[in-house]
Amino acid sequence: MKKVLIIGAGGVSNVATKKIARLSEVFSEITLASRTKSKCDKIASEVSQLKIETAQLDADYTNQIVDLIKKTGAELVVNLALPYQDLTIMEACLQTKTHYLDTANYEPKDEAKFEYSWQWAYKKRFESAGIMALLGCGFDPGVTQIYTAYAAKHYFDEIHFLDIVDCNGGDHGKAFATNFNPEVNIREITQPGKFWENGSWKETKPLEIHKSIFYPEIGHKESYLMYHEELESLVKNFPTLKRARFWMTFGKEYLTHLKVLENIGMTSIEPINYEGHMIQPLQFLKAILPEPSELGANYSGETSIGCQITGVKNGEIKTCYIYNNCKHQDAYRDVNGQGVAYTTGVPAMLGAKLMATGVWMRSGVFNVEEMNPDPFMEQIGDYGLPWNVVLNEPLPVNEND
Ligand code: NDP
Repeated sequence: MKKVLIIGAGGVSNVATKKIARLSEVFSEITLASRTKSKCDKIASEVSQLKIETAQLDADYTNQIVDLIKKTGAELVVNLALPYQDLTIMEACLQTKTHYLDTANYEPKDEAKFEYSWQWAYKKRFESAGIMALLGCGFDPGVTQIYTAYAAKHYFDEIHFLDIVDCNGGDHGKAFATNFNPEVNIREITQPGKFWENGSWKETKPLEIHKSIFYPEIGHKESYLMYHEELESLVKNFPTLKRARFWMTFGKEYLTHLKVLENIGMTSIEPINYEGHMIQPLQFLKAILPEPSELGANYSGETSIGCQITGVKNGEIKTCYIYNNCKHQDAYRDVNGQGVAYTTGVPAMLGAKLMATGVWMRSGVFNVEEMNPDPFMEQIGDYGLPWNVVLNEPLPVNEND
């Protein structure tokens, strides 16, 4: 029985905290801490399985996190705050010898740039401290890498081409809203695209490359090539990959709103002086957009996220498409959340469970594809995210090539 500290009380935390609370055979004490304590209290009030302790915490400060870990006796920290807090929380875990899990890689606040180098740099120190950090255990990053590892292990001798396809075929009824933290989401989308081909990264203009891709139960959707963080670790851990790409769907209306916001400077992270206060336009935009965690009630439709892989087995070319579809209303019924938060929070819960039970436990810093995918794949369906696999059929991503 373990004590866990969950940091952050947004949409993803709402899902993960409620799911973790149902694992009473694994976790005996849960503390939920975030910048705004009232948000922790609201989530805690909707949990009946056990009493969740709540606390106010500014995770930008390592000393505050260290004090809270010591006070709660937490053995594992589940970081569901923002990518900006990854390093302060990892630092606190090192100082207290506490295991660590997150769902997004570190990004400096003042530069829209995410890469694993900062967190990978902790590897030796985590090894020496005898503790584990599991990086990116959401859906993408997260399950997409576990799907890749599972496919590579069971269906191929070598994998050569990987396309991660991420479709949100849902409708939340708002003119413009993001499905997870708007600041992180918009920073990600407005960056140049990037994909791996023949041993190097190829850069594109933001959303420059796009095509229509078919998604099961949803149909064809315009899908845009983007850079996504799991590509960095996947090409490192699967060096046989000749090409690795990431595609995400966006509706016309979403892109039109985004373009206008960009054109008028609202997506900028350069601080401006407004009536004597320095404010970041993007942070101000976040403050007026709908809270992603509040979108669930009226959300219809479903998400479909998966990996389309080509490789060789016994000298023959083989394909594999492995994916999950998640209905927003199923997520709402289960935990009062929406599908995008659900597909992130459920894998975070299962990653935490596998670490806490010793199934996934090694000293050091790891991306999820470095773990044995089998126990995760055996259990994830039972927790609400069943998967499907289609073998040796033409891959939808190649349809119009
Ligand atoms: P939200 O913005 O809804 O929630 C973030 C939470 O973190 C809020 O409760 C916020 O507090 C809190 N927080 C922010 N700064 C601090 C701080 N300095 N100290 C303490 N708490 C802080 O985000 P989401 O729930 O949508 O996303 C959570 C994480 O999950 C993000 O890192 C995101 O990138 C990641 N993610 C990963 C996905 C995946 O598939 N791997 C998909 C979607 C998201 P406050 O309420 O005061 O603002």
